[in-house]
Amino acid sequence: MALVKSVCVYCGSSGRVDETYRAAATRLGVTLAGAGIEIVYGGGRVGLMGLVADAALASGGRVTGIIPIHLHDREVGHSGLSELVVVENMHDRKRRMFDLADAFAVLPGGLGTLDETIEMLTWKQLGLHDKPIVIIDVAGYWAPLIELIDHAVASGFAGRSALQLFRVVRRVEDLLPALAAAPTPAFAPEPRYV
Ligand code: AMP
Repeated sequence: MALVKSVCVYCGSSGRVDETYRAAATRLGVTLAGAGIEIVYGGGRVGLMGLVADAALASGGRVTGIIPIHLHDREVGHSGLSELVVVENMHDRKRRMFDLADAFAVLPGGLGTLDETIEMLTWKQLGLHDKPIVIIDVAGYWAPLIELIDHAVASGFAGRSALQLFRVVRRVEDLLPALAAAPTPAFAPEPRYV
């Protein structure tokens, strides 16, 4: 059973999305704060990202944002976080978010969310880390991604072990049980990636 003290949340920076997704973001912030789990995320105050952060902060949670300097203005870095770390570039951001997290939770999002999620999956596939990755498939949003990964396995481009790299849950409420059931990471994360 993994001891999770911090969760890196990947999710969309767009707020022009269905209320179902927005509500899930708020619920995730409240849930993690209520469990005393620190949130690590991209540091913006827009879209689902902002909703997760605001909900967690309002519930007394600790939220750390990691934002690259060039996005600080565009995404409007959240000024009310427990901590906002401004880094040089996207690579530093992803690496810092990775370092600070015991596990990853993925809400619906766009290309940035996809990029971040796939990168954590591929790092795990390469044996660079062993942290739990849970995809929260709100309203079936991620079904095409899961289908694509299944397709890659069926076509021989990925081994069946690719399906063990992540868990899919349907509801935000299922995240904590999924994390509790995840195996303890087998080794200290020390990626030789950068
Ligand atoms: P999105 O899912 O596209 O709304 O983006 C969610 C988060 O991913 C935002 O914080 C973006 O800054 C970030 N992001 C966007 N593109 C990339 C990328 N190529 N690599 C890493 N993060 C990204």
